[in-house]
Amino acid sequence: MSMMANQHQAINLSQGFPEFDTPAFLKDKINQAINEGKNQYSPSNGLPDLLTQIAEMIHRQYQSHLTDEKKLNGLNNITITSGATEALWVAIQTLISPNDEVIIFDPAYDSYEPAIELAGGTCRHIALAAPSYAINWELVEQTINEKTRAIIINSPHNPTGSILNASDLRTLQALVEKYDLYVISDEVYEHMTFDGLRHESVLRYPDLFKRAFVVSSFGKTFHCTGWKMGYCAAPAELTAEFRKIHQYVTFCSFTPAQIAIAQMLKEQPSHITALASFYQQKRDLLIKALKDSRFTLLPSKGTYFLLLDYSAISTLNDRDFCIWLTKEIGVAAIPLSPLYPAEHREAYHQENKVIRLCFAKNDETLLKAAGILCQL
Ligand code: PMP
Repeated sequence: MSMMANQHQAINLSQGFPEFDTPAFLKDKINQAINEGKNQYSPSNGLPDLLTQIAEMIHRQYQSHLTDEKKLNGLNNITITSGATEALWVAIQTLISPNDEVIIFDPAYDSYEPAIELAGGTCRHIALAAPSYAINWELVEQTINEKTRAIIINSPHNPTGSILNASDLRTLQALVEKYDLYVISDEVYEHMTFDGLRHESVLRYPDLFKRAFVVSSFGKTFHCTGWKMGYCAAPAELTAEFRKIHQYVTFCSFTPAQIAIAQMLKEQPSHITALASFYQQKRDLLIKALKDSRFTLLPSKGTYFLLLDYSAISTLNDRDFCIWLTKEIGVAAIPLSPLYPAEHREAYHQENKVIRLCFAKNDETLLKAAGILCQL
């Protein structure tokens, strides 16, 4: 969709990347690291300084109630990866063997299924239904069988903007304990929840964390998606297995970015604490600007995405609608149907007319796009 947007000079609210730049502090620090010659391999697991800073951040955000000896230890529990994509890939290869099944929720981020299939596993798909896109845990329990090895959750959720609550996490914990399963928790939008709702990280639940790989990305947090910097937090025994694979995937990630991010976490912690209100203002600006449109707006509780139902405007399926919107109207959005398995897509098209807009854009861009959308 981004390529099509460029080709047709459409306003690009499709792909999920910020239009604004990464903080000046981070750019200065990465340049400084490069100019000082810190350009060689880091330790495979990541620079100790960065591992420590991440552990501190996790402690501040999610585990301040834990005693010091229960705190995560960066050196044993955290591995730096080349984006969350690498962390997801490695976690999946660590857990999944041929014939294992993994439960994923549709619409699902598109890297999960190929990684599961390449490990020899199979996905069991459970559809989330609009407008809440909440998980039906009874259905999850019915889907679990002797082949089930893991459940992948993603909260805040791309593309729907829904979030899991404390009761979801408690139910998940009960299920994984009862059936001896593992969890991969994709939390790349962890710092973006709105209206005072708190992010229910798996890291808040020590007994659930015992069976989990928690994945995050600095690309989302520091507006630097092109740096492809992420990490995985997991118990020491799982981390040891994870690292055996990570070592042969990338060995290590970009050293100057690790140095800069460690300094950012240490010296500018307010960037993270201000992120939710920064994005909430953008969400609210877009919602207000679309108020008089014929789209129905779905709730966005987190991430930088807003879903619009266009059934009052067109009978096209979501893919064709997005192509038309980009080429003829000049605004690019993302269809949701590609995030469902091919065999469910037709049925999906019958019932759903929903597209995703990314609001990680400058206010002028959002207002201009909304102005055009209001004319439909
Ligand atoms: N998971 C989700 C839900 C995402 O939206 C993204 C990025 N679009 C990723 C993982 C991958 O993150 P990264 O760019 O750090 O690899």
